[in-house]
Amino acid sequence: MRGRIIKGVGGFYYVQAEDGNTYECRARGIFRKDKMKPLPGDDVEISVTSVQDGEGSLDSIAPRRSSLIRPAAANVDQVLIVFAAARPAPNFGLLDRYLIAVRRAGVPAVLCFNKCDLADEETLDRYREIYRGCGTPLLFVSVKEQTGIDLLKERLDGRTTCVAGPSGAGKSSLTNLLCPEAGMEVGEISRKIARGKQTTRHTQLLPLWENTWFLDTPGFGTMDLPDMDYRDLRLMYPEFEKPSADCRFLGCIHVGEPDCGVKKAVADGDISSLRYENYTGLVQELKERRRY
Ligand code: GDP
Ligand code: ZN
Repeated sequence: MRGRIIKGVGGFYYVQAEDGNTYECRARGIFRKDKMKPLPGDDVEISVTSVQDGEGSLDSIAPRRSSLIRPAAANVDQVLIVFAAARPAPNFGLLDRYLIAVRRAGVPAVLCFNKCDLADEETLDRYREIYRGCGTPLLFVSVKEQTGIDLLKERLDGRTTCVAGPSGAGKSSLTNLLCPEAGMEVGEISRKIARGKQTTRHTQLLPLWENTWFLDTPGFGTMDLPDMDYRDLRLMYPEFEKPSADCRFLGCIHVGEPDCGVKKAVADGDISSLRYENYTGLVQELKERRRY
């Protein structure tokens, strides 16, 4: 029977099968031999060993369309990066790191500002202006007041979406809105820390509706830059592409060079200076990393 892995816990894989049931499956030895670790999101073939107990074994994994490392997941079509529009105000440096990490992973990103009920129109316009050229669709929602949710659902429809973003952005609240059965504890992380409990959570793929899946992940307050050459960072900024045709030097990285089309575009206000400043900081960071 065919199905999809929705969760892996301690050597068990939970597979939502085409008969509508979920089976707890062990992976057969063959995977260990091939060093292939089944991931949430994998399309699989299973043999049901007990219908009553909902048990089976994992027989094979279909070729992956994509794979993410953090969170480890297969066949993700897009990453929904969620940041609060206010409370807390977005950390743009962190946001750009998310955009870079997702772009680098080769999966399309969608940028979603939540808690728009707490931000005025002027603030939202500013975000629109900053991220106008970043190459990802922008969404403005309020989970609390349920605004912008229809457009978001259109974006999700027919795809497998991984949600990402710092804690406090409203990811659990959003997951609950889209999939009430998920029963995510809102404000979970901070509360668990307060209680001194373990904060480990397993990545889980939630079925939303026909062909539409949502992958919930723990929030990351920091985000390492991918291991990359500082000269490649400019490729992560779609808004640099056109103006860079005016750079005097081929291979201009748009930092110290004279007659730089990108710097001119920043000066003209065609590229967000905030995005550009973050870019130069990240170039510096990558250069320093190379020295050690
Ligand atoms: P997570 O850490 O990203 O999963 O964020 P949570 O879903 O736990 O939400 C963090 C806090 O923000 C909670 O107190 C939520 O009730 C609140 N919150 C979530 N969405 C909204 C929203 O759209 N508007 C407002 N005002 N608060 C929200
Ligand atoms: Zn340049």
